Order: sequence, then C-alpha cells, then structure tokens
Amino acid sequence: MNSRKNTKIIRYFFYEEHPNMNSIFKITPFNNTLLQGYKEKAMAELNDFFGRKWVYNTPKVFVVDDRETINLLQEKETENWVVGFSTGVYICILNPDNISKESCHDGSTYKVEKLIKHELCHIFFNKSFGGTNFPWITEGMSIYVADQFYKYPIPEMFNGFLDGKKIYQESGASIKLLIDNFGKDKVFEFLRKQNGVKDIESLNSIFKEVFGSKMEYSFFNNLH
Ligand SMILES: [Zn+2]
Repeated sequence: MNSRKNTKIIRYFFYEEHPNMNSIFKITPFNNTLLQGYKEKAMAELNDFFGRKWVYNTPKVFVVDDRETINLLQEKETENWVVGFSTGVYICILNPDNISKESCHDGSTYKVEKLIKHELCHIFFNKSFGGTNFPWITEGMSIYVADQFYKYPIPEMFNGFLDGKKIYQESGASIKLLIDNFGKDKVFEFLRKQNGVKDIESLNSIFKEVFGSKMEYSFFNNLH
C-alpha cells in the first residue's frame, strides 16, 4: 500500500475523533532473524531489478503490534486488509504473529516475505522514477516485483485499474503483461517519462509514444 491520496476526508474525521491523538512512539530493536533475512533478500533482489547498489542506510523496517498503532502512524482509520505501508523513507509492517488478530488476512498463509518486498519496492520506485500520480503504476510494480499473484491472480478481463478501481486486482497483472510483451527497459522508459505527469491525457500520450498504442482496457485484454 502506498497511501498518500484520497485520505483527506478520512483523516479529517480521524482528527475530529482523536483531538489529542498520540504521535509519540517508542522504538526498540527487534532481533528477528527471519524478518531480517526477508529484508536482506528483498534488498538484494530489488537492487538487481532496479539496477541499483543500495547497501548503506537502507530503509528501516518497523514492526508494529496492532491496528491502533498503524492508525496512529497513518493518522487515519486504515482498512482491515492493510498490513503494511511505505512512507518513502521506511516501511511499517504488522507483526506477523498478529496478522490474524489485527487484520482480515489469515496469518498462517500470509506471505510476509512478499509484503516486505512490496513495501520496499515502493521506495525503490520513488528513488528510481520520482513517484507517480497514478496508483496503478506503483501498486502494479510492487505487486509484480514482489510476485503477489497468489493474492491477486491474473484477471480474465481488465476493466477497472485505469479508472482507479480494482487497483490491487488488476495492476500487477497489467505491469506483468507490459514487461512480458515489451521488456523491462520499455516499461522503465514509460516510468521515467510519466514522472510529474498529473493528467490522464498526458499519461495517455506518453503511453502511446512508448508502447505504440492507446492506453485502454482492450489493449491489455489483447496482450493476454
Ligand atoms: Zn503498495
């Protein structure tokens, strides 16, 4: 999850209900070799994928025990499926032991290794391409790179992500089809060129320039 947009209204009400909201947190080291291993593996794979050599001062992984803490960190009521987020500097994940209790997911089957890679990928994306104003682009990259298709299988039909719907269900698959059909370099060219673009018309013309087609569902459905 890369939460920056569409949270103003939720955030306002959260403040209203929590006028003296706590914003002080105590952090202590968590000696967890499993999570440390997941992080190091993810960093190595992400460095490889994005062509970077990021070794020093890498993003910290903060493990939080409950939804209450996630909400305070995010300054809003989060959905019960949210088990991690990225700030652009560090990532937070829900304590794997508490996933069943504090989220709608089954902690016994949830793949925390992929979650860590997904959230770290958002940071690599921002560092490499300067971010995006279109959530499907960065969520798609994170889902694709973290290989989370066990949660979001390739859909039969694309009909939502370009309109800001079904982002998680469709965007990973859409990025996968672009990379499989056009190669990573072409997709990286698109990611570089879309930096700073705000309106859909400009994004459309960049898409057409790079991939030679209109950015529409039929194009993605035909790539299947
Ligand atoms: Zn995400």
